[in-house]
Amino acid sequence: MTARQEQAYYQDTYLTESPATVIAAGTSDGGGERWVAVSPNIFHPKGGGQPSDEGTVDGAPVAPARDDAGVVVLSGAPATLEVGSAVVCSIDADRRRLHAALHTAGHILGALGEARGWQHSGHSHFPAQARLDFDPEGHEEELATPESREAVRAELQAGMDAALARGGSVTATLDETGHRTVTIEGVNSEPCGGTHVRSLADLAKVRILEVKVKRGAIKVRYEAEHA
Ligand SMILES: [Zn+2]
Repeated sequence: MTARQEQAYYQDTYLTESPATVIAAGTSDGGGERWVAVSPNIFHPKGGGQPSDEGTVDGAPVAPARDDAGVVVLSGAPATLEVGSAVVCSIDADRRRLHAALHTAGHILGALGEARGWQHSGHSHFPAQARLDFDPEGHEEELATPESREAVRAELQAGMDAALARGGSVTATLDETGHRTVTIEGVNSEPCGGTHVRSLADLAKVRILEVKVKRGAIKVRYEAEHA
């Protein structure tokens, strides 16, 4: 892989259609399926708890994935594409917006959990199964009964509602080594490679659904939509 790939999704969550140039191409060993890497790249590959985008290259449905070198590769591309080919890429805009909303709400929930002294231990931002996990050690008592867990859930919802009522911008910076930091104004900054909304005003129907302790983790399920 020679030419450098510009990750357009790092800069603009809402860029869902873009011309691009093929910077690498090949055929998979087994099925003979054509794959390409393009730049600029608008496809978010699965990673960091966020599902991959769905979309097309020149109208052909492709599956994005990150290769070992960190390049986003698109499988299922038209067989005629070669390095240097000009293409048009398109992704499912509704899916992208939903992923960005869930992901951004997850950052806020993570900050609310950490404000309680919980240690973040895992997350999924997949639609209908979005949740954050925290280490329960030292917090068994506050989560011991259904009533206490419901009280914690209500507190997290109140914290979420307050953060959204205050509002704030969501921005990202990329350093020379490629490390990206996402900042939610008034909430926190953390390293992240996902897609996010522009402003907390873009979030709607953010609901903390449940707090439970299961398999050695505090699991907080939530949902969110793009406004
Ligand atoms: Zn993120």
